[in-house]
Amino acid sequence: MLWPGSAALLAPLAPWFDEARRVLPWRALDLHAPHPDPYAVLVSELMLQQTQVATVIPFFQRWMERFPDASTLAAASEDEIHKLWEGLGYYRRARLLQGAAQGVVKDGWPKDLENLLELPGLGPYTAAAMASIAFQLPEAALDGNAFRVLARLLGIEENPRKSAARLREWLKPGLRTHGPSLLTQAIMELGATVCTPSPRCAKCPLASDCEARRQDATDRIPARPQRPVPREVSLWLLAVQSKGRWLLHPPAAHGLLAGLWRWPALAFETTLEGAAEEPHPFGLAEARTWPGWIQEYSHRREHIHPLALQFEAPFPAPKDLIWLDASELEAIPMGRRDQRLQELLRTPPAVCDEAPPLAGLLRLLQSRP
Ligand code: SF4
Repeated sequence: MLWPGSAALLAPLAPWFDEARRVLPWRALDLHAPHPDPYAVLVSELMLQQTQVATVIPFFQRWMERFPDASTLAAASEDEIHKLWEGLGYYRRARLLQGAAQGVVKDGWPKDLENLLELPGLGPYTAAAMASIAFQLPEAALDGNAFRVLARLLGIEENPRKSAARLREWLKPGLRTHGPSLLTQAIMELGATVCTPSPRCAKCPLASDCEARRQDATDRIPARPQRPVPREVSLWLLAVQSKGRWLLHPPAAHGLLAGLWRWPALAFETTLEGAAEEPHPFGLAEARTWPGWIQEYSHRREHIHPLALQFEAPFPAPKDLIWLDASELEAIPMGRRDQRLQELLRTPPAVCDEAPPLAGLLRLLQSRP
């Protein structure tokens, strides 16, 4: 299918954006000049991956106060960057952001898309967003919002990501004509505020030329990718304390949870056979429980059963766990799930419907292979 030229088709976006644009702490006032602070654009783009604007704003402000430029961030400790990122999720982004800052400190800002792509954490979308928003280069940044807007506008019936290369080329004349930063942000803004999954076409500056609207097909364009069904798991999440120390997993060096401390967790089902055993085994002084919750991840749903256990005397830390001094607990970075248990520890416990199978749990914990 032949698409109309991007410069003419997208022309109504520029005046609309002048009126409708939101004031965001990382957004420059003059969108026709290179951004005065490319580092702020980099921070915002990494934070905005998988996270809503409203959530990002306070994190961005705190981050910029503590790490106002690439060199401050490049020199920070991993614990500190994770602590400041705590609550945003997808912690890998914090490490990649620091890696990118270190690259910039060492070699300066890249001058083109190819070199931006070499910075850690910058995939095709983020590198193009940096090129267009920070440096006014006519590179098309296609995120989920942009794909949705363009698929509907052009009537692309199949998954628009399959047409990414063609869309990038198609957008270039529009970017050159209307300004890379302005047009890129206008498309994103339209996707975030008007051409949402349930679009408000009556408010849209592109409505008269929109193919999906003309065909009354906005509910099926863009095609929705099939998502895998998340795996259901049920866990005891254990806050184990003895003599002013807590039992924790120290951060892994690699993987999704790198840089984060974790409470030990045990599969819920495998511990039930201990339910009838003695209530306070292994020198256990106190057990506290709270109502559980479901922790959602893209690939799994964890049914969490929180449990705090206090011992008279510490036992040797099982494999992969260490005893951490209680004074350090507030300062260590944790993911959302583990942070939530930490917060529960400050609240009164609840009566559990079913007594936790303490003997079975502790035997499992202490004999971890
Ligand atoms: S007219 Fe509707 S479907 Fe088309 S781009 Fe605008 S908001 Fe999206």
